[in-house]
Amino acid sequence: MPDTGHRQQETAPVERRIDAIEAIFEARGMNARAAIEEFEHTIEEKWLPENGARVVAKAWTDPAFKKRLMENGRAAVGELGLTMPPHHRHLIVKENTATLQNVICCTLCSCTAFTIIGLPPDWYKELEYRARVVRQSRTVLKEMGLDLPESVDIRVWDTTADTRYMILPERPARTAGWSEEQLAAIVTKDAMIGVARLA
Ligand code: FE
Repeated sequence: MPDTGHRQQETAPVERRIDAIEAIFEARGMNARAAIEEFEHTIEEKWLPENGARVVAKAWTDPAFKKRLMENGRAAVGELGLTMPPHHRHLIVKENTATLQNVICCTLCSCTAFTIIGLPPDWYKELEYRARVVRQSRTVLKEMGLDLPESVDIRVWDTTADTRYMILPERPARTAGWSEEQLAAIVTKDAMIGVARLA
């Protein structure tokens, strides 16, 4: 490229920009670093798919709980001590069966019921998944390793800011008689998004 003598204004390195933002917070008596560390702690220790796995295992073993979960997901997960942010007004649970595969996405951005099923995976946030899973769901699922026969219907649920979904995967036949703890251990985030089935 020819040197035009015109130089773009340099952007400060990210560390210096962070320092500048922190200094502004501190000047106003707010400790940004502590708040970020607390937030990171919450993400890493609390927003885990193990929460949703407990919900699934309970639903598999307790028909009355499953009924409540399908009727009002938010209230039912609360019974297990799990909370959702106020703006996640609804948790809608969709059950997968031998002939039905429910899948969730957020066509606008990356919304999930993250306090229950964990933070969205990177691929969930990408335009490729968001755009294609609604139009070519069978192909996209196949590309992700879930090759469903034509006899299985696929339904895709588009998350909104206030309506979050989770999938209740089909319980594998081999797990008859297992404890809730054993069952929870095989439930994955992908299965609760609906891009995988449990074997
Ligand atoms: Fe979103």
